[in-house]
Amino acid sequence: MLQITDIPVEGYECVKRAIDTQSGLHAIISVHSTVLGPALGGMRMWPYESETEALTDVLRLSKGMTYKAACAGLELGGGKSVIIGDPAKKTDSLFESMGEFVESFGGRYITAEDVNTKVEDMGVVRRRTEHVVGLEGKSGNPSPYTAWGVFLGLRAALEEVYGSDDLKDKVVALEGAGSVGSRYAELIAERGGRIVVADIKEESARRVAEATGGTVVRPEEIRSIPCDIYAPCALGGSLNDETIPQLKARIVCGAANNQLLEPRHGMALRERGIVYGPDYVVNAGGLINVYNELVPGGYDEQRAMKMMEKIYTNMKQIFAISREEGICTSVAADRFAERRIESARTRAEA
Ligand code: NAD
Repeated sequence: MLQITDIPVEGYECVKRAIDTQSGLHAIISVHSTVLGPALGGMRMWPYESETEALTDVLRLSKGMTYKAACAGLELGGGKSVIIGDPAKKTDSLFESMGEFVESFGGRYITAEDVNTKVEDMGVVRRRTEHVVGLEGKSGNPSPYTAWGVFLGLRAALEEVYGSDDLKDKVVALEGAGSVGSRYAELIAERGGRIVVADIKEESARRVAEATGGTVVRPEEIRSIPCDIYAPCALGGSLNDETIPQLKARIVCGAANNQLLEPRHGMALRERGIVYGPDYVVNAGGLINVYNELVPGGYDEQRAMKMMEKIYTNMKQIFAISREEGICTSVAADRFAERRIESARTRAEA
């Protein structure tokens, strides 16, 4: 029997926990905001040490989704869910129970795959709720679309710094040769950019280097090599007190989430004259793609690709706000998103 209880959190529309002793489910869903539309965000499974740790994560992630969707111009709010548990011990009954939990939000929260959950798991969730996207046979793997969006963001950043988006002989230091990084590297190399790549899985780095005519360096070297662009496509937090002084790049533009260890690191980049493409602005391509499953008429790749062009125009606007207001691009992105949410709220209240 699924037991659902409220967790009141200031600044969040609705946060709930679910416990089901039969299936073993212990999960939290956080709906940060539905001002722009239903709150879409992935379902993460992680062996959190405590519920407090899981709560901290889901709150941060759901708020991030609000900003990401707002910046991308989508009719979507921000939400996220976390299952506290060992991903090696997944069962159908766990995901069916989770489906019931999602269903209890009546469409205010829409789920999708995320860290440690897969398309197959979403298929099980679908048995109990229709509020799930990213299913087999629909919008497909988001990674190539995310890579395309990051590439569009990079074009805007190149224009900001060099006055042209020409990549010929620009050196790109790519950290993380995974699903997004490998495709991003191809897009850059096809336009004459030179790839230097590092991955903790050396084999992955070597594969990308071979495909792009690039070279491999060790992970501990990638942030300090001479280059034009640093592209973080691995984990978050890579822009911090230790790494920012080492960077030789003029641009930072990559797919990783939460690249700034702390918000103040956005200003630290600006003070060093480095142009930063805010992570949630440039990595929204996958979200834009999956959102297109919800648009009347269903998923259409051409329409999704057209919508992704917004990433380029948004970056132009964010650079303009940053210049005019003398603030770093990460703060400019937050203001850009907040203005869109506020104007929707004002319209709704009028
Ligand atoms: P992935 O797991 O396929 O690739 C990540 C790669 O980074 C792996 O090859 C891993 O070995 C490598 N790596 C991990 N730590 C490293 C380190 N310290 N140094 C060098 N390499 C390291 O993941 P992905 O789907 O390509 O996503 C990459 C990043 O982009 C993640 O932060 C993810 O949250 C973010 N992101 C992905 C998508 C998407 O559509 N996949 C969308 C938005 C954001």
